[in-house]
Amino acid sequence: MAKISLKHLPKPHKWTISALAGVLLVLILFPSDPVSAYKNTPVPTLEIGKRYDLAVDFNNLPEAEISAFDNAIERKTYKVKKGDNLAKIFNRAGLTPQETYRVSKVEDHASKLLSLMPGESLGLEIDDEGKLKSLSYMYSPTETLLLEINADNSFSGHIESKQVETRLNYAQGEVSSSFWNAGIKANLSENQIMSLAGIFGWDIDFALELRAGDSFYVMYEEHFIDGEYIENGDIVAAQFVNQGETYTAIRHSDGNFYTPDGRSLRKSFLRAPVNFKYISSNFNPNRFHPIQKRYKPHNGIDYRAAKGTPVVAAGDGKVIEAGYNRFNGNYVFIQHGENYTTKYLHFSKSAVKNGAKVKQGQVIGYVGATGMAEAPHLHYEFLVDGVHRNPRTVALPKAQPIDKAEAKAFASISAQRLTQLNNNKRIMLAMN
Ligand SMILES: [Zn+2]
Repeated sequence: MAKISLKHLPKPHKWTISALAGVLLVLILFPSDPVSAYKNTPVPTLEIGKRYDLAVDFNNLPEAEISAFDNAIERKTYKVKKGDNLAKIFNRAGLTPQETYRVSKVEDHASKLLSLMPGESLGLEIDDEGKLKSLSYMYSPTETLLLEINADNSFSGHIESKQVETRLNYAQGEVSSSFWNAGIKANLSENQIMSLAGIFGWDIDFALELRAGDSFYVMYEEHFIDGEYIENGDIVAAQFVNQGETYTAIRHSDGNFYTPDGRSLRKSFLRAPVNFKYISSNFNPNRFHPIQKRYKPHNGIDYRAAKGTPVVAAGDGKVIEAGYNRFNGNYVFIQHGENYTTKYLHFSKSAVKNGAKVKQGQVIGYVGATGMAEAPHLHYEFLVDGVHRNPRTVALPKAQPIDKAEAKAFASISAQRLTQLNNNKRIMLAMN
């Protein structure tokens, strides 16, 4: 039988014991017939909220009551704070450095406890002697590490996994003021809006070419655990209608998007070298040059954006010029294969050097107003065999078809997704 000292018990235990002692006192006061006893014994007036010391001899409590306390285990959750580690949390929980050591020795799993992140929490079960019985650490929405004490005081651990259920959801919208606003209105998350612009970024210039009336249709995954929504998953199919032209993207199991007939959406050039979310508005198509005060032929496209906005390489290539002059300001020219050149002018700062190899999407400089530019903007030129072309409309090299080995599997996914997409559209149409 464990010795019980009230002084060393945690508070809730003291209250439990006091309550139990109260019940015992009542039993002692009214030993036989409660009704007659009530009549004959003066009832003490008890003040609510006040604590009364009860003369209870704990050594004489029946054995059964004692053993209930013997194994009393407290479960408590400890939030991981900034700068925390296992030792600090164990210290807060009143555990010894020896216990920290024993827990950190658990094979395979203990390493997870070395990377506790602020905001996470540890569940600790500590018995009434202040000894750690078990530890639980949910390190992902689906996985929890459980450590339990063995007879020899060592700990062993295992992982408990929860099943993630994936459901499909659908959203659609129409652009009126901006794509961003239309996406928010359609209940898409900011990440989903950006993903959508990324998926179609090789076909559509989201910065300058969207028009009121453009529309989009998106099917995406949602993850649930125990019936509870956890997070959005991938977009699995999407359609974008830009100025009357429909673009469709179907996600394959390789994580890439393809047209329904199996051509990659990924192409050698992005339609726009700046992310649409930075673009304030279209430039005046009259192409009035603010510095030279006269109309002049304009060989490129101007993207007006705040100074410092990152500009990316439209395609893989090699920097053939990176420098400064009084017309271009800081500029970068990139050669792509044998036939294509792209030019980027007026950077506040270039991010690449002459001769550097660059990847599509890599930041090559930042929007500025150096050289002949009044306001910060990117002047972008696209040349095919040395001739200026409109990067929004120029015919670009055909995209790669999906791998032959994957073609059949993709065809069946593609057909299924298109059916689902069209069904969703029909339902929405019927609802409106
Ligand atoms: Zn320009």
